[in-house]
Amino acid sequence: MKRVLRRAADRIRVGSAGSAPAERCDELAAIAGPDPEPRTPGVCEDCTALGEHNWAHLRMCLTCGHVGCCDSSPHRHATAHFEQTGHPVMRSHEPGETWRWCYRHAEMG
Ligand SMILES: [Zn+2]
Ligand SMILES: [Zn+2]
Ligand SMILES: [Zn+2]
Repeated sequence: MKRVLRRAADRIRVGSAGSAPAERCDELAAIAGPDPEPRTPGVCEDCTALGEHNWAHLRMCLTCGHVGCCDSSPHRHATAHFEQTGHPVMRSHEPGETWRWCYRHAEMG
């Protein structure tokens, strides 16, 4: 009985933040420091290795500075980098854009 009440209280507290899921994103909060230096500024590292240059937009991994192309690009190297390495947070590498994205929680921050 006591346990049920405590769980209900937790739900009320979580609910006050809106309809967000109970599991919040720790990665975006953890990566608050200065960005790493991009390994290949202005170009997709993996497209360059393939000899290609036809990506749409670039994203940078905030764990290691890997620069990869976005999901609108033919090769989607930024997503491939997350799948290969598990590095969860990237940011836009486009001029004037500062948004960040956690792949693990599909959350912007
Ligand atoms: Zn996350
Ligand atoms: Zn690419
Ligand atoms: Zn990385």
